[in-house]
Amino acid sequence: MTKKIFTVIGARPQFIKAATVSRAIAKEPGLEEVIIHTGQHFDDNMSRIFFQELEIPVPAYNLDIHSLGHGAMTGRMLEKLEELMIKEKPDYVLVYGDTNSTLAGALAASKLHIPVAHVEAGLRSFNMLMPEEVNRILTDRIARILFCPTQTAVFNLQKEGFDSFDCKIDNCGDVMYDAAVFYSEKAEKPGFETPSTYALATLHRAENTDSPARLTEIFKALGQLAQTMKIVLPLHPRTRIIAQKSGLDKISPNIIVTEPVGYLNMIWLLKNCSMVMTDSGGLQKEAYFFQKPCITLRNETEWTELTTAGVNILTGSNNEKILSAFKTFQENTTTFPEGLYGDGNAAEKIAGILAAY
Ligand code: UDP
Repeated sequence: MTKKIFTVIGARPQFIKAATVSRAIAKEPGLEEVIIHTGQHFDDNMSRIFFQELEIPVPAYNLDIHSLGHGAMTGRMLEKLEELMIKEKPDYVLVYGDTNSTLAGALAASKLHIPVAHVEAGLRSFNMLMPEEVNRILTDRIARILFCPTQTAVFNLQKEGFDSFDCKIDNCGDVMYDAAVFYSEKAEKPGFETPSTYALATLHRAENTDSPARLTEIFKALGQLAQTMKIVLPLHPRTRIIAQKSGLDKISPNIIVTEPVGYLNMIWLLKNCSMVMTDSGGLQKEAYFFQKPCITLRNETEWTELTTAGVNILTGSNNEKILSAFKTFQENTTTFPEGLYGDGNAAEKIAGILAAY
């Protein structure tokens, strides 16, 4: 009997993760997939481009829910997803990561007694002020299958007592590593001019964008670093609006501010950069996949194996810490340990478990 998987995605990092798992599901004879796009990310360069270039199957439904506060967004998604789950009668609901789409999908399913599978389970920043931390803790608690990308994630769940819950925990590796391996050869140079030496930066976390003081301090530090090394900054739409209002996007001619780029351009930028500076979760790991040191513009990280290995330095928005981390990476050779995120076959393992469990 074929099992129906109801996949809920809505934000950029989820498209990249789902691309690898959807491909594996399509190869698994016992599985069929229905993809639901909640609409959380909707700009062409935050959504459509990923479906096209990563060849993700066209979603069966697009809920077009976006640009709302957390409560309204999650609430509307919950209502619509419940309707669709009743109609589609899936065997599993598959959710990714830590967005409002993740929580809405998991909550709707669990109330209908449909087992939830969570990809990227067990991650913790231990900062409950982050909306992502709330989403991932709640989703993990009601998931039946928890696909963990690392052993640290498994330990986090064990410390929270998950061994005694009615769930399966699997350390399958990181689907983002699968994506990096699979798409690495397809990397494409972006259309804009790129300097021969540059640091690649991204910035979008609410803790930075919603605080004018933090955002200004980060841009000032980037402006100082740009005197030494050019910076390519594909800017998230939310950050762009805020930075444009205060003129921060023009703080230095050596900071090349661009629209968000597609994943294949991003891989090219990662392969050719000297260093990464980011508050993104995914990009911290991609820096490691392509052996680039990473300055993380946050006070904590879920990917602690990177800081332990010395390939990632946490600086928050602190100007001095950012400049000092930059100096450390410029003056020293960074050694990258191998195999922190699995063997590149996480997606196949996930599809196999969904088919068999
Ligand atoms: N990314 C991209 N284009 C960009 C910026 C990011 O393709 O202009 C990719 C990046 O390579 C990574 C993912 O988007 O695979 C990370 O998403 P994001 O930083 O939005 O979310 P997070 O990982 O912090 O949840």
